[in-house]
Amino acid sequence: MSILFDENGLPTGRKKEGGNLKVMIVDDSQFIIKHLSQIFLSRDFDVVGTADNGKAGVELFKKLSPNIDLVTLDITMPEMSGIEALQAIKALNPNVTAIMVTAIGTAESVKECIKLGAKGYIVKPLDREKVIERIGQILK
Ligand SMILES: [Mg+2]
Repeated sequence: MSILFDENGLPTGRKKEGGNLKVMIVDDSQFIIKHLSQIFLSRDFDVVGTADNGKAGVELFKKLSPNIDLVTLDITMPEMSGIEALQAIKALNPNVTAIMVTAIGTAESVKECIKLGAKGYIVKPLDREKVIERIGQILK
């Protein structure tokens, strides 16, 4: 999966082969969902689905996959954690790009997620510029 970068080296959601990257956001904070959605949409990613816990996220992924290229997963959520959701989602489609969203100071969980197939992580509180840069590094 390769995307186009703009003249400043920042990622766009446009794929080299045409079309936009399709994103699903899973987070128990509506504020984070809204903020992340705005960031993705501002860069031409398509946000095709959101869920507010891991279990709902896996169910939605079952429905929407293979129409999802990228999933962001909050680590701490009710019903099912982001770590468990990551495992379930990767089992359904090993090719999906998973990015964890985590509060500062959860290095151990992040390491575990990388081992389980997550491609990288975004740190909360979300800073728009940093999130965009980070997504670029992860998708490069
Ligand atoms: Mg949370």
